Amino acid sequence: MKREQLALTDRPCGACGVGRFQPTDVKGRAFAYRDERALVLTTSLLVPVCNVCGELRERGAHAESLDTLLEAEYTTKRIAATKELVATLLDDGWRQVEIEQVMALSAGYLSKALRGEKTLATSTLRHLIHLALHPRQTLQDLTPRFPQVREIELALERRGVFAA
Ligand SMILES: [Zn+2]
Repeated sequence: MKREQLALTDRPCGACGVGRFQPTDVKGRAFAYRDERALVLTTSLLVPVCNVCGELRERGAHAESLDTLLEAEYTTKRIAATKELVATLLDDGWRQVEIEQVMALSAGYLSKALRGEKTLATSTLRHLIHLALHPRQTLQDLTPRFPQVREIELALERRGVFAA
């Protein structure tokens, strides 16, 4: 590792052509990862960073560690978002199985997503956002194509979920 770091600092930065790569803690720095534009790393990791332009050296042993940590950040963030959106609907009187049915998810899927055993796909998360913000409208939008959704709306209606 030491020899690799020395070799890295010997080579000038390809982005600015002047700086040198130095092991730098990138905790707190935001990265583009998967479909996240700015995912903030909340743990410490030393990676070679240009001391002039801040460019991160992309290849090397650190890249894999960084990827692993970003994947963990990504999962944590996604679980938090899922939890918040599901809680909004549960607070309104929905049952988790009803959310799954409206979103065409298999039974128990949300529990797995909340435990981090499954990662909610971005398309599913976007649908969940819509459902949590506009539950009744979403049900009514879906019903013409998926008549079974109407049954869920009726059940929710009977329990007074839309009363307020
Ligand atoms: Zn540079």
